[in-house]
Amino acid sequence: MMVVPNVNFSQIAACNTAEELRALLIDDSMMDILQMVGYRGVPSKETLKSVPEITRSIVITGIARTLATIDQISTGLASIGALDYIRSHKNAMQPLFTSEGAKHFQPTPDVFLDGLNVEYSAEGSNRKNAEIDVYKHFCDFVQDQGMEEGGFVKLYKFITGSDSFTPLGLERVITVRFIHWCVSDCKCRPTASTCDPSINLPVHYSNMSSFEEAMTSAMKEGFGLGLI
Ligand SMILES: [Zn+2]
Repeated sequence: MMVVPNVNFSQIAACNTAEELRALLIDDSMMDILQMVGYRGVPSKETLKSVPEITRSIVITGIARTLATIDQISTGLASIGALDYIRSHKNAMQPLFTSEGAKHFQPTPDVFLDGLNVEYSAEGSNRKNAEIDVYKHFCDFVQDQGMEEGGFVKLYKFITGSDSFTPLGLERVITVRFIHWCVSDCKCRPTASTCDPSINLPVHYSNMSSFEEAMTSAMKEGFGLGLI
């Protein structure tokens, strides 16, 4: 996409006299921009009255690509009959099309926990009892994460690689798996796989604080990797 050089753009608007404007227009870097936006005027004859028109040309050229993209989206939405519906329900649709609205899709611990698929071992087995314990620690850990920066969103990103829900909520099911048979004094930590969103919880933690320590350390050191 063409980038409108803001510095020159604001320089045009800041001109106080016709002389200033003319001097700016014949500057080499400005000539390049004027050529790019299809300027057909004569710099030496411009007055301050030309400023709005020149800036408009620069802006329009800069956003032309964006407009073309929006136009394609509109055409696509119209072809499936969705465009009229979107236009007639602007308030409902706003969250899908504005950055302000996107805040509605911040992950929350409750939605996250509700959507988990926990792969327990057979009912009544020793393995399952250990799994229930560590899963309880995990749920407590999730609920304890605040919504401020570095809180739950960081944990969500650690597991999914994404820092927001889609408008449809949790698009993919996140699986919780358990790791058994650690060596007795192991220091292994929970691991996550973002491509098949899942978290693997070793069951060897004897209490909440040792789980918390391992989980925090895993998030800290593993952050940013796809497969941890
Ligand atoms: Zn272990």
